[in-house]
Amino acid sequence: MPETLIKVDLSSSPTANENIHNRWHPDIPMACWVKPGDDFVLETFDWTGGFIKNNDSADDVRDIDLTTVHYLSGPVGVKGAEPGDLLVVDLLDIGAKPDSLWGFNGFFSKKNGGGFLTDHFPQAQKSIWDIEGMFTRSRHVPGVKFAGLIHPGLIGCLPDHKMLEMWNKRELEFIATDPNRVPPLAAPPSGGTAHMGKMTGDAKMKAAAEGARTVPPREHGGNCDIKDLSRGSKIFFPVYVDGAGLSVGDLHFSQGDGEITFCGAIEMAGWVHMKVSLIKGGMALYGIKNPIFKPSPITPTYNDYLIFEGISVDEWGKQHYLDVHVAYRQACLNAIEYMKKFGYSAAQAHSILGVAPVQGHISGVVDIPNACATLWLPTQIFGFDINPSAAGPKKYLDGSISMPLSPDLA
Ligand code: ZN
Repeated sequence: MPETLIKVDLSSSPTANENIHNRWHPDIPMACWVKPGDDFVLETFDWTGGFIKNNDSADDVRDIDLTTVHYLSGPVGVKGAEPGDLLVVDLLDIGAKPDSLWGFNGFFSKKNGGGFLTDHFPQAQKSIWDIEGMFTRSRHVPGVKFAGLIHPGLIGCLPDHKMLEMWNKRELEFIATDPNRVPPLAAPPSGGTAHMGKMTGDAKMKAAAEGARTVPPREHGGNCDIKDLSRGSKIFFPVYVDGAGLSVGDLHFSQGDGEITFCGAIEMAGWVHMKVSLIKGGMALYGIKNPIFKPSPITPTYNDYLIFEGISVDEWGKQHYLDVHVAYRQACLNAIEYMKKFGYSAAQAHSILGVAPVQGHISGVVDIPNACATLWLPTQIFGFDINPSAAGPKKYLDGSISMPLSPDLA
């Protein structure tokens, strides 16, 4: 049995656990140390630290304080790791906590977080997904069942002071270009809710005030939300500090490319069994700025898709220049419109795109003025035939099952 180096108690607050942190800062002490070649297990909270509950109300999604996230397990120090090395991480296995065999998906209110389709879904909504071994299904989104492609949404090493300064500078300058935007352009440091692992006192206060939020992916990896970074993958991380400081969290049972629902994939508490090794001087040897990885030998087999195209002309008819963001949004909206013809609500269709193993492709970025993005919807996840035919769509669902929705507070 590999040793469990970090344990989490889902009945207690993540801020009571000194092996958990929710900011990136080089001064956060290592939670534990391992040697190259070691394999070990880290348990994790879900990314909200248990704030979102397994119930039939979206009030928690509406009301969450987003400066509290993400709760990460670590940092794990690796003996002998030095700046410039590559930390090689084998994700040997990942699973849900046996006492928590469910996950959540939702859309944030436009006034608190927003998301990719927030103009179309401005209010908080939620769906709960039950985990049955390697499969999942939801009491709020009928008609679909699929195998999990389990992965950490967030994994990476600690930045050094120089890198942290650079992150804060560029993101604060960006926010200053439109400081009152709703939702905001980026997430600035926010000391009040920072949990800095073992740090206490003045040192904690100082680091909390400048610690980088965990929201975006950055040079070190971080919140990349790559669905294919699944169990069985091997990741090569740039190392910036002595010991590397590897942290992980935000486990997903399954997610579609883009994590378009933002709250988020199928979010779960769980455990990661991993093994670490080093490539000394690997960053320069291989010209690595951002992490690279090898995929898992095992993925769910969905080989039939219905593929929706989108171009960079927005919902209001405005032309955009080769804008992949706009094009992918159109592909997603086209898929939602199509699924509605089979009886799904727009919210249920949106949820499916967020949680199922949906593929997103950048198909063309040169044919002026339109980028072309495609959304690949696996047809085999549905319990009915979702293909188009001359007979027209058969309404599989009668609308009697819906997703919890919470109106905004006045
Ligand atoms: Zn997540």
